[in-house]
Amino acid sequence: MKCPVCDLEGTICRCRTEVEGDDSPAAATRVFTVQDVSCRNPQCEQYGKVVHTLRHLIYAKQGGGESADGSDVQG
Ligand SMILES: [Zn+2]
Repeated sequence: MKCPVCDLEGTICRCRTEVEGDDSPAAATRVFTVQDVSCRNPQCEQYGKVVHTLRHLIYAKQGGGESADGSDVQG
């Protein structure tokens, strides 16, 4: 990912994980790896700032609240 100002290839400065839908069993759960890309050109006004954010979907699960592995307890 290049810096839009100086066109130099940026560097990944931070990596984190984000989860969507985790607070509701009825909603689909999706987990992303999020990477912040910053400019590494000291001459650039964006130096050290985040110029791109990359999101990679690493896990997805359909909502509905039913377990798919047959481990539901009855009685
Ligand atoms: Zn730059």
